[in-house]
Amino acid sequence: MSLPIRHLPVVQNWDCRACGGCCHEYQVGVTDQERERILSQGWERDPVLAGKPLFVRGGHGWRKRYHLNQRPDGACIFLSSEGRCRIHERFGPEGKPLACRLYPFVLIPAGDHWQVGLRFACPSAIASKGRALREHQPELKRYAELLEQQSPAPLRQLPPPTLQSGQSVPWSELHRFVQAILAILSQRDHRTEWRVRAAAALVRLCRQARFDGVQGSRLDDFLDVVTSGLVSETPIQPEALLPPTRMGRLLFRQALALYVRKDRGPDHSVVTGRLGLLSAALRFAVGRGRVPRLHAWLPATEFARLEQPVGPLPREADEVLERYYVLKVGSLQFCGPGQFDLPFWEGLESLFLTLPVILWLRRALQELPPVEAISRAVSMTDLNFAYNPALGSMRQRVALRVLANRGDLERLIAWYSR
Ligand code: SF4
Repeated sequence: MSLPIRHLPVVQNWDCRACGGCCHEYQVGVTDQERERILSQGWERDPVLAGKPLFVRGGHGWRKRYHLNQRPDGACIFLSSEGRCRIHERFGPEGKPLACRLYPFVLIPAGDHWQVGLRFACPSAIASKGRALREHQPELKRYAELLEQQSPAPLRQLPPPTLQSGQSVPWSELHRFVQAILAILSQRDHRTEWRVRAAAALVRLCRQARFDGVQGSRLDDFLDVVTSGLVSETPIQPEALLPPTRMGRLLFRQALALYVRKDRGPDHSVVTGRLGLLSAALRFAVGRGRVPRLHAWLPATEFARLEQPVGPLPREADEVLERYYVLKVGSLQFCGPGQFDLPFWEGLESLFLTLPVILWLRRALQELPPVEAISRAVSMTDLNFAYNPALGSMRQRVALRVLANRGDLERLIAWYSR
């Protein structure tokens, strides 16, 4: 019997509006069985697809795997000129790779159940349009069964992500940490930027603690005491924090360039070619002059302008951020196999670094109405979060460690939320 599916207590809706965005944005990986199934569907007799390779092998070494081929414009080879999936049209949803059917849902095994997450790169997810996530239970159950069939080992036996190198706890205790972070992120008396700063402070403290023998209700008590201390100590006004250090800004802009860059699909980078991209990377590192338009949504603007305060977010725009962070944390979409195998604390820090990225983008998009600006900023960021391999590289992980250790993570959040 498949694991039960748990939803989070957050108001989040979704339904596919057939925008076709996902068929342009992602490289869709396929299992060997899915590849064989699609090869047996007779596409060699299709007037459009005959003679074209349907799959491409990518990745490195033992990680090499097949994914669906793409058209020269970056769209999936099966996407028709009318924007419809040819496999779906002929064979129904069961004919497609599971990744296509699942998107934008993310199902994460969490011990004795599945957690449901969402990719906010999907415009319908970010706008919370459609039915409540709970109403998708029948199809989610089906996807969970298929994922369990694909898994080489029983999912109940999957160990939880480590807390950090050399430190692990059972699933039951990991969920206690998640609940503590969620309790901070749900403090609606404060803006989301404050909540994320307070949560980042909790991560910083927990990283220094050993939890041997501190389990169950003792761990709850420990987290209660630490959290109430942090809640009263975290400055309400972002202006009360020191500005980020020079090193912090440099490392932040390098991460920013990775989050902003869009190489394929509609609205892709205006900058092209190896030299153009190299010069764009250098300009992000220096942080002066015009901002390279690594995404077509980025308007023409200057780095210096984006260091100027634009004021706090209105409540409706802040609610988009709240939904984003509650869902990402509650569904464990920030650590483990779905996020480059990052340990728990490091995964949370990588998630919290997305907030200054989103707020920087919001400044760049300030000519738009606030909800649209923040929605676009979240969408641009989430397209890369837990997807762009450069963000999971050792270089980026070291940079994140430096930012968190120096206190720059919280300072960056405060700096760009002004
Ligand atoms: S197989 Fe179909 S649903 Fe999947 S990416 Fe291609 S066109 Fe889109």
